[in-house]
This record gives sequence, C-alpha cells and structure tokens, in this order.
Amino acid sequence: MTMAFKTTHSYLQLPESSFQACQPTPVADAQWIAFNQPLATSLALPETYWLSAEGLSLFSGNQLPDWATPVAQAYAGHQFGHFVPQLGDGRALLLAEFSDEAGQRFDVQLKGSGPTPYSRGGDGRSPLGPVLREYLLSEYMARIGVPTTRALAAVATGESVQRETAEPGAILTRVASSHLRVGSFQFLLAKGDIDGLERLSEFTVQRHYPQLKQIDDDGQRYLALLDAVIEKQVQLVTHWMSIGFIHGVMNTDNTSLSGETIDYGPCAFIDEYRANQVFSFIDKRGRYAYNQQPAILHWNMARLAECLLPLIDNHKETAVQLATDLINAIPQRISAAWLERMGAKIGLNAVRAEDKPLIERLLQSFEQGQVDFTLGFYQLADELNKQTTPAALYADCTDFSGWRDDWQQRLSHSGQPLSEAERTMRACNVRRIPRNHQIQAVIEAAYTDGDLRPFNALHAALQDPFATAPEFDPFDQPPAAPQRVTNTFC
Ligand code: AMP
Ligand code: MG
Ligand code: MG
Repeated sequence: MTMAFKTTHSYLQLPESSFQACQPTPVADAQWIAFNQPLATSLALPETYWLSAEGLSLFSGNQLPDWATPVAQAYAGHQFGHFVPQLGDGRALLLAEFSDEAGQRFDVQLKGSGPTPYSRGGDGRSPLGPVLREYLLSEYMARIGVPTTRALAAVATGESVQRETAEPGAILTRVASSHLRVGSFQFLLAKGDIDGLERLSEFTVQRHYPQLKQIDDDGQRYLALLDAVIEKQVQLVTHWMSIGFIHGVMNTDNTSLSGETIDYGPCAFIDEYRANQVFSFIDKRGRYAYNQQPAILHWNMARLAECLLPLIDNHKETAVQLATDLINAIPQRISAAWLERMGAKIGLNAVRAEDKPLIERLLQSFEQGQVDFTLGFYQLADELNKQTTPAALYADCTDFSGWRDDWQQRLSHSGQPLSEAERTMRACNVRRIPRNHQIQAVIEAAYTDGDLRPFNALHAALQDPFATAPEFDPFDQPPAAPQRVTNTFC
C-alpha cells in the first residue's frame, strides 16, 4: 500500500510572536551526504525527493516545493543556568509537518540553512562535523529505542563555515515529533503572554498527550501535562544514564516536551567509566556532567512548572501545591526509573530498593578499575555462562570477584533461572556504541579528502548495536590511549 503524502503546519496556529517566516539562504554547490530511506518511507515522502536533484534542492534549501512554508520558531531558555528571553531557531527552519503510517505528526526542519531573525549575529550555518555526528548518533539512538529526533537527510553546501578554522558546511534535515521545548513556554511566560501559554499548552496536549484531553478541569489538565512531561523526561534521562550517554547541553531550550533527545551538540558516550565525565568543550564547570544529568532534569522540570503555574493557579489554588509536590517527587521518580534500568543491566527483572548499593558498587569498581562502561556491562552476561569475564577489563587489581560473589548470590535468590537473567541483560547491554574516537575518525576523513566511506561504514555498523557476530571487530573496541577523545565541539 502506498501512503498519501500529506503536509500540515499546525504550528502556525500558535501566537504570532512564536515564529517568523524566513527563507533558507541558497548554497553554492549542494551535494548529497546521506539520505535515510527507511525514515522517508515511514513518512511517505514522495520518491521524487529521494536522492534526486529535486531532493537536493529541497534538503539544501536551494529551492523549496510548494508544500514547504519555512518558519523560524521563537523560544527562550536557560543556557548553563542563565536565562535568555529570546533565543529561537538561529540556524534552523521548520518546513512543514508530515504524518507517518500511524497518523502521528512529525516536524521536518532544515538545520544549518542560513541566518534567521533569531540568529543573534551567528552565521546560521553548520559545519560538516556536527552534521555527521548528529546523523550517526540520532539514528543510533532510534535504533536502540531511545526517544530521539531523527536524521532524514544530510547535504554538503560546497561553502565553508568559519569556526576556529574554516570548515566545510553542511545541512541536516531533522525530523522530530515536535520542536516544542521548555524554552518555548519560557518565551511566552517572559512576555507575560498567559493566553499564549494556554494555547501552547493545549497544542502540546493535542500533539503529544491526547489522552489528557478528556480532563475537563483546566487546572487539572495542565497539572496532568506537567506530570506526563516529567514522566517522559525521567524515562529519557535514565535511559541515557543506562547507556552511558552524556547530552552535554541540557539547557531548557534543548529539553523537549515530547521527551525526545534533541540537539546533538557536543554529546558523547562514555568509554572508560567516570561518574563525573564531561566531554563538551563549552561545559567548563561540569554542569552537564554524566552524573549531574538527573539533577539537571529536576531543575529543568521546575522551570517548566513555573510556566504552567499561572494556568494552574488561575483555576485552582490547591493545584499549585500539587504542582510543587510533583516537582519535589522527581528525585524519587528518577531513582526508581534508574533502578529499573540499571537493575536490568545486571540481570534483575524484579529489582528492589535494596539492590541500589550493589549497582553502585559495580559502577565504583568500574571507575576504580578504569573499565569501559559498555563492555563492562556487556561482558557480565558472558560471566554468567562462563564464556569470559569482565575481570580482564580491569586495569589494576581492583577486586571484581567480591562483587561477583554478592551479585551471583543475589541472582540465585531471585527465584528466576540464570538464563532469564542473561536474557534480560542481553536485551539492554549493547556491545556497540558510537564511540568518540570513531566519530572523530569519520569527521577527519570527511574533512581531509571528502572521504565519506568511514561515515558509511560506521553508520552501517551502528545498525547492529548488539553485534551478534562471535568475534569482536574494531567497531566494538574502546579507544587505545592515543585515540582517546577528551573534548567534543558543536
Ligand atoms: P544550542 O546550544 O545548539 O542549543 O544553540 C543555542 C542557540 O544558538 C539556538 O538559538 C541556536 O539556534 C543558536 N545558534 C547556534 N549556532 C548558531 C549559528 N551558527 N548561527 C546562528 N544561531 C546559532
Ligand atoms: Mg538547541
Ligand atoms: Mg545545538
């Protein structure tokens, strides 16, 4: 069955201050880098755009079809804790919404398509490196089931972009279930536009949480919206924690109302485990370090609550107390979700609060023994069937055997067969992640002689996160000391 391609642009219903019409700036010499055919199919994108000259014109912003009505979205945001009332799409343009097979709407956005009214002096462009990184990482996240924006296409612009040095330019076409952010709400609150906030909240309910429409009482509905967003974000951030992902820029403008991972900037996966790991070059104080992410999520949700409070307050005073209670309960919710995910990583299907120290002790031993986060967990399942042991991953004589004895005792008391524990672990402990040194190598090859073969090879390898082949290959390996990447840039 072929699906009918249909675009809409419901964002244009929102308060006029929330966006501005803007055209992309044409580029000198558009060239294909990548096109995501499976995603295009699920969005019923007509084949006329698939790796064709027409597609290249569309995805480079050189010539847009009639169905595209490009707008730059306005938003505010706390950047590294400091409030900026006016940010907005400084280098992105929302073209239209597509509907997938299930009728779910998706935004299609060009990123790197030239200056907009919100560029604040920026060039509106993106270097090729971050485009390649976003393409690889966001598609990997989708592959392993982490909610995320997607990459539909990447094209080179044939122009250079000045950063610390001149770099080749590129444009990524991003697909998101929406681009609504905490910052979208903060933008209207900062303007004192309470009516606009109410419209935006209704729009969010309609788009992402339609089950809440049946709550007639307005205050209760916005409270339920806050609760629903908190739940999505708690699930998202604990999922990140469980795979060793560091977002790197958890500003409120990069926190999505849909609960998708958005804005792949200086993000990275941990190799050797370190609780307070930071890669981002701009995160000098470690605000967005690996182990800070739960606390930052809590903080960001409090900022969202501030935006919804005027709506809740309008309708019921007690609701304000309830909203406060929701925020105060976030640490417990994170803790419970974290325990579920991390418990599964050590084979516990029915994890209990008392298991927390066992998980924490393992992580501490990883840190002390300089163990690779991904392989450490991956090899625990091998330990169960005595194939191999993570003990060999420890750089020093950190004692793994003491932990192993306690763990195996816990498993034997769990009432489930070891094969069940192994299945649980295999289902969540990937062998392959997009490693920083591999991404670095991809970017270097693309920069030095336009060689996209390493990009394509890594992209293909990442489609197989559990890497079932018996032998480990280079894509499964942590970096050797000289390959180690310590800083990432956006
Ligand atoms: P980010 O840190 O990626 O969330 O970006 C923060 C803000 O800076 C957003 O409003 C972006 O649109 C804007 N921005 C980032 N890079 C550029 C650029 N090259 N030109 C214009 N605006 C930009
Ligand atoms: Mg952003
Ligand atoms: Mg960014």
